[in-house]
Amino acid sequence: MNFDKIKNQVITPLLDFIFPIECVGCQKEGEWLCEPCFEKLSFYKNQYCPICKQEGLMGKFCPNCKPFYEIDRIFIAGNYKNIVIADLIKKLKFYSVKNIANILGEYLYVFIKKEIKIFDKNNHPSFPLKKTLIVPVPLSHKRYNFRTFNQSEEIAKFLAKKCKLPTSNNLIKIKHTKPQTKLKRENRLKNIKNCFKWEGENLNKKNILLIDDVVTTGSTLNECARELKKHGAGKIWGLVVAKG
Ligand SMILES: [Zn+2]
Ligand SMILES: [Zn+2]
Repeated sequence: MNFDKIKNQVITPLLDFIFPIECVGCQKEGEWLCEPCFEKLSFYKNQYCPICKQEGLMGKFCPNCKPFYEIDRIFIAGNYKNIVIADLIKKLKFYSVKNIANILGEYLYVFIKKEIKIFDKNNHPSFPLKKTLIVPVPLSHKRYNFRTFNQSEEIAKFLAKKCKLPTSNNLIKIKHTKPQTKLKRENRLKNIKNCFKWEGENLNKKNILLIDDVVTTGSTLNECARELKKHGAGKIWGLVVAKG
């Protein structure tokens, strides 16, 4: 029996038995988040500079922070202080269930439509989504083999389907690193440097929407962006579920 089988046939049913599936918002049994609780989720209204929080910049970096970043914008949908969002992200990591990734993917989709408004009036993606490729932030092989699940990849897959955009897993993580959350800000950049590799063909000015679940200092997203730009990417926007 391989690990996937053990997980599907033994571990998941056992976890369901010990912790029955219930809405993280209202504890109603049967689903991870019921529709009324989904409708109640809030979004960041003001997409400020992702680093110093200067307002009114729609995810762009202010002139003081920009020199340190190659990624063009980072859009943050929600706040990790919101317990429903935090709980969904934690449960997604713990249980590795696609349904939770789909809920978070839907949350990002609604966020794009309501807050970023990058769809035109015919509901087609408008600039810069037209020539856009959706790319998830990858996990290292070691972590992926342990979890058999990359939460950002699952969120990205769902979002790509909803937006009718292509997605690619050609960005890989070639080094195993310490979790960024356990490091001080100045060490995060060092920890993640040269960790990613684009294995696909030249991106030929294609715009990229980089997907991750949580952002803290933006170092990981930026390092991904640096690698993608080396391979010909056009504009790169980060899109994350929550600010940690
Ligand atoms: Zn509910
Ligand atoms: Zn700033």
